[in-house]
Amino acid sequence: MKYREPELRQKAVELLEAGQVDIVLGLKENEDVGHPTPFFARTVKDAEQLVWNEHCYINLAVYLNDLKGKKTAIAAKPGDKRSIINLLAEKQIKEDEVLILEMEWEEEAPSSVTEWMNETDTQERFERFQREIDKCTLCFACRQACPNCYCESCYLDRKATPWNLNDLDRATKTTYHLTRAMHLAGRCTNCGGCRDACDFGVDLLYLMQGVSEFLDDNYDFRAGESVDAVSAMNSYGPEDTEIGFLGGDN
Ligand code: SF4
Ligand code: SF4
Repeated sequence: MKYREPELRQKAVELLEAGQVDIVLGLKENEDVGHPTPFFARTVKDAEQLVWNEHCYINLAVYLNDLKGKKTAIAAKPGDKRSIINLLAEKQIKEDEVLILEMEWEEEAPSSVTEWMNETDTQERFERFQREIDKCTLCFACRQACPNCYCESCYLDRKATPWNLNDLDRATKTTYHLTRAMHLAGRCTNCGGCRDACDFGVDLLYLMQGVSEFLDDNYDFRAGESVDAVSAMNSYGPEDTEIGFLGGDN
């Protein structure tokens, strides 16, 4: 069953009343912010405040790592559901602690990054990447919004301390975004959460999607498809192809 706002509220009331979950994770209107923000409904009264509309773009799966030990029902769009499945596959959360409430939501099929890549030269691809990172202020909202960026100590925070901030130069920004893309290879579920979280209009989702297409095309692997999946980066078979990535040499 796919839920809309009325069914979500009704289900949340039922689950909380019956004590089947501790929390229903959804969103509620927030006049101060101007759009719905995450909301942890713990009572029937709370459940009646849950909303669901086109402004509910946040991937709520990002909060599941902090809710270990609590039975949580979570409102999820298709990409959010894939993120939850990936967290289950990576053993970050437990199946018996999470109930996915699949929301009715259109997901547009993205255009192929591999095709774009095959039609462009290195310079054009480089310029697209630079256009995006030049807008970046290294605020890390994209990392914070990503359910799969859950390392307790990020490699970038090890360098940036209150007395030693990250430099806002192209090299640092390139390092951040390319390393993040590699850390998420075979783990990114293309939910769009990182792009939607960016207040500066940086859109590097194509980079993530390009890596996902590469893994799909070459290793028949799609993150967030199965809770039993072994991450593509953690498995090796002698028949695996050794292949250059995104235009590299084979
Ligand atoms: S949210 Fe946007 S500005 Fe902030 S680090 Fe990510 S890409 Fe850069
Ligand atoms: S699309 Fe962005 S937020 Fe979503 S899983 Fe991939 S890297 Fe994380």
